Amino acid sequence: MLIEQRYFETLHKGYGQYFDVSKVLFEQKTQQWHLIIFDNPTFGRIMALDGVIQTTERDEFIYHEMLTHVPLFSHGNAKRVLIIGGGDGGMLREVVKHQNVEHITMVEIDDAVVDMCKTYLPHHSNGAYQDPRVHLVIDDGAHFVNTTDQKFDVIISDCTDPVGPGEVLFSSDFYAGCKRCLNDSGIFVAQNGVAFMQIDELTTTAKRLGHYLPDVTFYNAAVPTYIGGAMTFAWGSDNPQLRQVSLETLSERFKNAHFQTRYYTPALHAASFALPAFIEQALASVDEK
Ligand code: SAM
Repeated sequence: MLIEQRYFETLHKGYGQYFDVSKVLFEQKTQQWHLIIFDNPTFGRIMALDGVIQTTERDEFIYHEMLTHVPLFSHGNAKRVLIIGGGDGGMLREVVKHQNVEHITMVEIDDAVVDMCKTYLPHHSNGAYQDPRVHLVIDDGAHFVNTTDQKFDVIISDCTDPVGPGEVLFSSDFYAGCKRCLNDSGIFVAQNGVAFMQIDELTTTAKRLGHYLPDVTFYNAAVPTYIGGAMTFAWGSDNPQLRQVSLETLSERFKNAHFQTRYYTPALHAASFALPAFIEQALASVDEK
């Protein structure tokens, strides 16, 4: 919330971060939530929804590269990609870099987020919406995956935290829908919070997603403005081999993709699935139940 030119994030109880606000560029109560985009001297333009930081110009590349290139280079031949959420356009910018992808559907619940981010965070989407392979659908992601007749090779859930409209994207109903529209040897990935602060979010995902996809685990990357530790990404597939692609193969695929990254490397991709003991122990307790 905004208090005297400072924006205080209200995600965690008794712990948080603030950002000096040099200028509020846009503020609106949309149908879904309170949306604000403001300038900060250190992180550039920042967007927040209902008091939670969603993305900043300075560190967004870490999150968007890791949630896109890890599943796509693991898969190696994805033709059809589904993005759930992703209203700031950063995920779309990274997916369109993969020339072998033929069809991209993005299902976003709030068109105001899309419109405002196109205007005030133009480098996030960087013209990706003009790519002829892109199809934007304004809908609830859970409704879409449970009703579409389309199938996808990779599904990326780039949603808000599990409160309000984002809550359904952490539900069994949503995971059942993703399984329903995922091709054989498909991959599902999702933002799953900062495990050090939100370990229950991670174990709940492991339990629910594990009911629909046999190979469920997590990988991670440190994103400075997702405070409290490394951001954890959920991974689900019916083909465990996709998570064990060799570093040589990942490197070959990355080289043949012919684009630069600022965070993702094949070596980091492989290493990102190494989890700290407290997460392994939390996941082991899920398996025992
Ligand atoms: N990087 C952010 C994070 O990790 O929290 C996510 C950013 S992106 C802005 C989150 C998007 O999810 C928003 O545009 C929001 O409108 C969208 N969203 C939330 N709930 C949704 C739902 N049920 N269906 C589709 N999109 C949803």
